[in-house]
Amino acid sequence: MPFQEGSLPVRYLGVPLISSRLAARDCKSLVERIEKRIDNWMTKSLSFAGRLQLINSVLAAMYSYWASVFMLPNGVIKDLEKRLRSFLWNGAWYDLFPVLIDVNVPQIIPDAEDWLHWKDTDGRFQDFKTGEAWNSLRHREGKVFWVNAVWFSQCIPRHSFHLWLVIKNKLKTQDRMADWEAGSATNLRVMCCPLCKHDRDSRDHLFFQCPYSSEVWGLVRKMVDMGSATDSWSSIMLWMELNAHSKTLDHIICKILLAATTYFIWQERNSRLFSQIQRKTCDLSKIIIDTVRLRIMGFKLGGEPKHRKTLETWLISKNMELDPG
Ligand SMILES: [Zn+2]
Repeated sequence: MPFQEGSLPVRYLGVPLISSRLAARDCKSLVERIEKRIDNWMTKSLSFAGRLQLINSVLAAMYSYWASVFMLPNGVIKDLEKRLRSFLWNGAWYDLFPVLIDVNVPQIIPDAEDWLHWKDTDGRFQDFKTGEAWNSLRHREGKVFWVNAVWFSQCIPRHSFHLWLVIKNKLKTQDRMADWEAGSATNLRVMCCPLCKHDRDSRDHLFFQCPYSSEVWGLVRKMVDMGSATDSWSSIMLWMELNAHSKTLDHIICKILLAATTYFIWQERNSRLFSQIQRKTCDLSKIIIDTVRLRIMGFKLGGEPKHRKTLETWLISKNMELDPG
């Protein structure tokens, strides 16, 4: 008879026509076709993006066509994913991180036990620590001159965090918010400093050019000697530049006082803005002084005579047993 002998299963549009559940052997032609394409492409120097494009537009399409007709056996799905993954990531690390090309491949010593080395940024071998890994990877800026004026062991952390925002001018003061709201219907034009009711507030206005803040700053400053620092923010930054590294008791107290004052003035500004509760300058300065006094009482001073005058200023009895801090 003039016909060609075929074989089961019969194929229609490239997929086998079978009524029972698809077995792994029935998917052999799909796996072979994908494998053939991969073998062909492997000989070409394709980039990571190129391989990804081929997988998405060609291989995944072949795979999804079959998957839209049949429930593919789990083993076949895993096998195909493994082949696609290995094609995609073949040499991909070199494409993504060309620096690896220059890394010397270590000599493998047979039968020796593996051990882990971590080389720090200075090229020294160290035990691996996540902190060291972070230090090696992170971007470093130079140290700012005010770092020790904000972060020091005796600081009040939430005040220091706030002072850091003040120095970076990151508080949501009205002058900054007005820039963000350009063109919107928000009624920022009528906003004014909640402390003195004049003009928009800003970092330099609140700390401490505003008449209210200036009065509070004047009252609390009497407790310390901050030299030529006035109520202008630039003069305070200058004081920080000169004294940030100082570890004398008086300078440490100045730093705590400055952070506490900016913190409580910002708190008062928000309280007036959102709840209408107002405190007088003398009340706010008393809260600031009491907060700093409590912090000083936590210091380990050992009753040294040179600290007597400071303790007297802050009304802390010299006989009081101070907490070791
Ligand atoms: Zn004001």
